[in-house]
Amino acid sequence: MKLIVLTAPSGAGKTTIARRVMDEMEDLRFSVSATTRTRREGEEHGVDYFFLSEEVFRAKVEARAFIEYEEVYPGLFYGTLKDELERPAESTAVLLDIDVVGALNVKKLYGKQALILFIRPPSLEVLEERLTARGTDSATDMAVRLEKAALELSQANQFDEVIVNDDLEQAVVETIACIRAFLAG
Ligand code: 5GP
Repeated sequence: MKLIVLTAPSGAGKTTIARRVMDEMEDLRFSVSATTRTRREGEEHGVDYFFLSEEVFRAKVEARAFIEYEEVYPGLFYGTLKDELERPAESTAVLLDIDVVGALNVKKLYGKQALILFIRPPSLEVLEERLTARGTDSATDMAVRLEKAALELSQANQFDEVIVNDDLEQAVVETIACIRAFLAG
């Protein structure tokens, strides 16, 4: 089983790219993460995330149910479930949408079996505009996300490939090309 990790600061277009990649590549399965954050409008339990209470999340940590987990934002936990990666091989690869620390942990654990891709916005200013346009986060949440984004951008050089999401179509094409090359190798 090969692992493909898509990482990007919140608002860099990663979720859209991930959806497009999933639509166009049939042999990929999406790894649904668990989180303690509240559901945004349009999100579905078991599809976008498994939305868990902190108590249930902690119980899963105790039970060693996660490959990796993290307090991505203060008080908000996110984690990759072992079960999600180890489901019987109905596909040749799994796509993970996780943050920088999670991606680097996956690389450490899986080495050449994993491809870690960093999707970056053209600049922090563009990212701020996109987050504002999305309008799903409060001003405080946005400040926290932007601060984390600045830190994440500085770690992009530790990834296998960096894709700039200036033009979405172009970024999708580049991402798919990277994944195909990796799966063929
Ligand atoms: P959001 O709340 O915007 O959906 O996601 C916030 C951040 O958490 C994103 O950077 C996303 O990639 C990351 N994330 C989602 N699931 C996981 C996970 O299972 N593990 C880690 N480490 N990060 C995750």
